[in-house]
Amino acid sequence: MIIKQVSLGFVCGITSTLPDTGQPEIAFAGKSNVGKSSLINALMNRKALARTSGQPGKTQTINYYHVNEEMYLVDLPGYGYAKVSESVKEKWGNMIESYLHSSQTLKAVFLLIDIRHDPSANDKTMYDWISYQGYQPVIIATKLDKIKRSQIQKQVKRIREGLDVAEKTPIIPFSAQTKQGRDEIWDLIEEFC
Ligand code: GDP
Repeated sequence: MIIKQVSLGFVCGITSTLPDTGQPEIAFAGKSNVGKSSLINALMNRKALARTSGQPGKTQTINYYHVNEEMYLVDLPGYGYAKVSESVKEKWGNMIESYLHSSQTLKAVFLLIDIRHDPSANDKTMYDWISYQGYQPVIIATKLDKIKRSQIQKQVKRIREGLDVAEKTPIIPFSAQTKQGRDEIWDLIEEFC
């Protein structure tokens, strides 16, 4: 994908009505600090358009990034941030669920998992939601540069087993530092759109 233009199209809070964008949407989900903003910035060739987690869990909105005026990358709130109350966590959960329910043009949901860690219960819930809503999940194993090359296959297998991922579900290792995996992710996005 050649990025000609990107902009922040919509920002939705808990009480906002979600927009009907009329264009293909690809959503990104994952726990707070997993590297979601870094991935979205890397996909858009930007250093800092997507928020970075200086204050994880503070700004919780659904952000729609408009790419080449033809599709949206949708940044869902990061979940699992420990320092917020249960009621706030529940609101974020409802917001993500409501988005997955109501988007008319959502094509796929990318779920980010840190390649160093086993998936958490929240990750599993998210994966199951995505599948249950009928979307094709794609797993992105983030922070690839933080492990040795010899560990990659083992970690990918642990993620596959931890989430009980279907054989056809791709797991793409990605590094925001080296940009490894970026082209593969764009190829998939273009296929979905
Ligand atoms: P978010 O909360 O999921 O949006 O996470 P961020 O993109 O803000 O990343 C959280 C932290 O992990 C930041 O300090 C990033 O610099 C770091 N990070 C994100 N992706 C990578 C990566 O691929 N490699 C390395 N080494 N660090 C990363």
